[in-house]
Amino acid sequence: MSEPDDDYNLNHFADAEHDFISSFADEFETSDFGYRDPVSDVNPEVRSPKSDANSRKPEPRLSDGLTYLKGVGSARAELLVKLGIRRVADLLFYFPRDYVDVADLRKPEDLVEGQLQSVLGVVDSLERKQTSRGVVLAMGMVCDGGGYIRAFWFNQMYHAEQMKSGRRLLMTGKPKWDNFRNAWVFMHPKLTYLADGEAVGSIADRSIGVALEPMQPIYPLTEGLQQHHLRKIVRNALPIYSPVLDEVFPESFLVQNKLPPIADAVRKIHFPETSDEANAARRRFIFQELFILQVALAIRKLQRQTALKAPAIELSPKIDTRIRKLFPFALTESQEHVIREITGDLRQPIPMNRLLQGDVGSGKTVVAVYAMLLAVAHDYQAVFMAPTEVLARQHLRTLELMLEHSRVKIAPLFGGQKPVERTKVLQDIASGEAKVIVGTQAIIASEIDFHQLGLVVIDEQHKFGVRQRAKLKTGTGFDPHYLVMTATPIPRSVTMTLFGDLDVSIMRGLPPGRRKISTYLAEPKQREQWWDFVRKKLRDGRQAFVVVPLVEESEQFDARSIRETHDSLAVGPLNGFTLAMLHGRMSNDEKAKVMYDFRTGETQVLVATSVIEVGVDVPNATLMTIENGERFGLAQLHQLRGRIGRGNHPAFCTVFSDAAHKAQYEDALTRLKAFVESTDGFKLAEVDFELRGPGELFGTQQHGFPPFHIADLARDREVLLEARPVAMDMVRNDPGLVLAQHAKIRKQVLTRYGKVLELGDVG
Ligand code: ADP
Ligand code: MG
Repeated sequence: MSEPDDDYNLNHFADAEHDFISSFADEFETSDFGYRDPVSDVNPEVRSPKSDANSRKPEPRLSDGLTYLKGVGSARAELLVKLGIRRVADLLFYFPRDYVDVADLRKPEDLVEGQLQSVLGVVDSLERKQTSRGVVLAMGMVCDGGGYIRAFWFNQMYHAEQMKSGRRLLMTGKPKWDNFRNAWVFMHPKLTYLADGEAVGSIADRSIGVALEPMQPIYPLTEGLQQHHLRKIVRNALPIYSPVLDEVFPESFLVQNKLPPIADAVRKIHFPETSDEANAARRRFIFQELFILQVALAIRKLQRQTALKAPAIELSPKIDTRIRKLFPFALTESQEHVIREITGDLRQPIPMNRLLQGDVGSGKTVVAVYAMLLAVAHDYQAVFMAPTEVLARQHLRTLELMLEHSRVKIAPLFGGQKPVERTKVLQDIASGEAKVIVGTQAIIASEIDFHQLGLVVIDEQHKFGVRQRAKLKTGTGFDPHYLVMTATPIPRSVTMTLFGDLDVSIMRGLPPGRRKISTYLAEPKQREQWWDFVRKKLRDGRQAFVVVPLVEESEQFDARSIRETHDSLAVGPLNGFTLAMLHGRMSNDEKAKVMYDFRTGETQVLVATSVIEVGVDVPNATLMTIENGERFGLAQLHQLRGRIGRGNHPAFCTVFSDAAHKAQYEDALTRLKAFVESTDGFKLAEVDFELRGPGELFGTQQHGFPPFHIADLARDREVLLEARPVAMDMVRNDPGLVLAQHAKIRKQVLTRYGKVLELGDVG
C-alpha cells in the first residue's frame, strides 16, 4: 500500500454515499420514506456560530456544520466539501481506506532488524538519483532523541512531493542494518506526516508510546488537505459526537451477531488500537449494509407473494407424458430437478419469480419449453423472449421442431416483419389462437394485447435489467409467472444480492452426449500447427469459429479488425475453405443470412466478434480459435467456448495471446490459465469475480441499487452469508417490521431501498 496520496480526489464518490450516511444520522432525514435528494439537500444546519463564546454551548447534533469543529475554518470546510463531507455525520462516516501500524515506536538504537517498527523524526536531506533500473529517492532523517536513519524508494517519486526538509514524520517499515553506511535503512517505508505538536513529547522522555494512536488512519484526500488535518478534525469530533450517534440495532441483535455498538464502531474504525479492532468495526458497517439490503429483498419477495395473483397451473401425469413425448431425449437429473421446482411454483396462485442459472449448454431451453407447454396445456399463452433476434430465431426454430407434431400454434414477433404479417400475428395473439409467442424483448414489451398470458420466459437475462419488467396486458386480470434464464453463471454472493428477491434454480453439468472441450493456451509459434489441425477437421466436415476481440467501440475499427483477420485467413492458412464474417454492426437481416449459411454448412468458418457469445447453437461447429485472449473476461471466454462441443464430435478450443510474454498481462494470464483448466462455468465465475470484481454486469448500480458505502461483494462474501439468514429470519417473524425494536431498521430499509424495490409502506 502506498503512502497517503494527498491529492486523492474522490469528488465523484461524495453524493452517492449520501444516503448511507443519512441513514445513520437520523435527525437530518427530510422525509421518512422518500429518497433524499443528495444534491439539493446538502446544507448543513447553521446555529449559533462557535465564536460566540458567551452563548450556552448547544447540544451536539450530527447535522452540525463542520465549522462547529475545532480545526475547521471556512477554507478547510470547503476542502472537505470536495470529499462530500458537509456535516459532522459525513465526517464520522468518512472511513479510512487503510491504516499504518505505528504501535511499535522505537528509538534508532532500539530497532530490531526485519520487524515492523516506526521511528519518529524530521526530514533532513532528500536526493534523487537516476540509475539503470530507475529513479531512486533517498531520504535522511534526524530522529527524535538522536540518531540518523535512511530510507529509499525506487520509482516512487510521488513521495518527494510532500517530503520537505524539516517536516516531522513517522516512518514505518522493517529496517535493515546497513554496514556500509553504518545506519538503519528502511526500504519503501510508509510515511505518516505529523502536524507540529501532534506527537506529544520527544522520544527521549517517554520510553514508548506517543500521544499518537497506534494505528494511524489513512483517508482518501483532496488537494490542499493533509492526513494530519483530517486526523485532527476526526479526533476532535469523536468524543463530542460519537455519543449522539443513533443505534439502529437492538442490543440483543448486536450481541447475537457480534457487532460493536455504533458509537464504538465509529470510534474504532477511525482510531483502532489493533487491526482486529479495525476489522471488527468495519465488519459492523459491512454487516449493516448487507443486512439492510437483505431485509429489503426479503420484504420485496414477501410483498410480491401476498399482493400479486397469478393463474394456478397444475401439472398432471397426463400432461407430463404428453410434453415429454415431444422431446427427442430423456431429461437429465438436473433438468428434472429444475422442472420440479418450476412446476411447484406454477401450481401456486402467486406469480413464479424464478431465476434459472445454467452453465452454457446445460440444456435450459428444454426446461423452458416444458414450462411453456404446461401453461399451454391449461390454455394459457406463453411468451419466450430473447435479447437478440439471432437468439429469438434460434428459439423459434427449436420450438417449431419440437412442436412439429402438435397443434400448438407459434407466433413469431420480430422487428422486420411486414405490416400485414404483423397485424395477423397480433390478431392471433389477441384471439388466443397463438399459444406460444417468440420474439425479442423489445418487440414483445411493446403494447400487445394477450388473450390469456400465463407465463413469461426471458432467456439470456444478463443482457438487460431484471427488474425493469414490462407491464404486460395479460388479458386475465392476473400477473404472469416469470422464468428468467441467465446464460452466465453468476457468483453466489452476487446472486444473493442482486437477485436476492428471486427464487433461484441452478443447473450444473452437461447433458449426455455433450463433448468435453479440449482447451489450449497457445504460443504464436504454434499457429501453423493449429491451422494444420483445423484444416484437417474442416476437411472431415466440421466447422470452425474464429473469434476476434472488439478493437474499439467504433464501427470502423470493429469491422476492420475482423475483416483483416478474415482476409488474411482466406488467403493464408484457410485458403480454399468458405469463410464468412459476423459482427454486431451488421443488420439483423445480414446476421440472419450469415447464421443461416453457417448452420446449413454452406459456410465452413465463421470469423466473428463476441456477438456469437450468447446462445448460438450449431452442433457441427467443433473448433474455436480465440485471438487476443487477454482481451476477454473469463465469463466471456467461457460463453464463447460454449458455442462448440454441442454435437457428437470432439471439440477443440485454442486461445492465442501475448499475455505470457508481457508483465502487464499478469491478471489476463491468471484468467487464461483458469480457463484452460476448468470447464465449470460456476467455478470460473467465482474466479473471475475475485480477479475483477463485479464488472459491469453485476455492478449494483447497473441494477438500480444505490452503491455500497463500504461493503464489497467479492471481498465480503462471508459477512453476506452471515447477514442473509438473519435478515430472512427477521422478516419472517416480523414481516412489516412493525415491532418497536425494528422501527429504525425499517426506516433504513425504506430510505435506501424503498424506491428501487418498490416497497411502498411496508407496514
Ligand atoms: P443452454 O442451457 O446453453 O441454453 P441448450 O438448451 O441450448 O443449452 O441445450 C444445449 C444442447 O443440449 C442442445 O443442443 C440441446 O438439444 C441438448 N440437450 C438438452 N437437453 C438434453 C438432454 N437431456 N439430453 C441430450 N441432449 C440435450
Ligand atoms: Mg440457451
